[in-house]
Amino acid sequence: MIDLHTHSIFSDGELVPAETAQRAFAAGYKAIALTDHADYSNIDFIIPRIIKACARISEKGNITVIPGVELTHVDPSDIASLAAEAEKLGAKIIIVHGETLTEPVPPGTNRAAISAGVDILAHPGLITAEDARLAAEKGVFLEITTRRGHSYSNGHVVQMARQCKAQLVLNNDAHAPGDFVGRQMAATIARGAGLSEEEIVTMFKNSQKIVERACA
Ligand SMILES: [Zn+2]
Ligand SMILES: [Zn+2]
Repeated sequence: MIDLHTHSIFSDGELVPAETAQRAFAAGYKAIALTDHADYSNIDFIIPRIIKACARISEKGNITVIPGVELTHVDPSDIASLAAEAEKLGAKIIIVHGETLTEPVPPGTNRAAISAGVDILAHPGLITAEDARLAAEKGVFLEITTRRGHSYSNGHVVQMARQCKAQLVLNNDAHAPGDFVGRQMAATIARGAGLSEEEIVTMFKNSQKIVERACA
């Protein structure tokens, strides 16, 4: 099992990176990405520290921990430049906090993230077919989430992805130890969103592909 979207104390997560990783490992995870919330104020502060932690934890061999970031509630016009900055700072997985139904995320965030070609558009809410088609074209993965609230639109995201041939990835968006739901529950939530068994297998393989790309 893999979770490419987690939070530590470098944003609103409960745990330091070492415990986040250890909790994930204990829950049966082979790889996670640490993707703390970032904006203009903290991007250059958190990424180097997360990189340092990821290197030390990963070299022990229990679990692969990939340094990433989740650009959150920034103006859509700044997403491309912040994504470039994150990459320059060494983030290997760049996520954008999409237009979830449960928060007033600036409209246009989904489009800006996809246009910028980030790795994953998290919890994209009521993503339009036009944006889902662009995601397919740009190879941006759309997120199915096990997180309460953000998950309200999973079914819609599945429909749009299927219709527009966009690729999906399932994440826990873990902020606390109990958020690492494991493969069985993740698959159950994916079925609840309307995915077939075959589509679920493909979705889990996508996470593996992203890990391989990030570690290459
Ligand atoms: Zn988010
Ligand atoms: Zn998140």
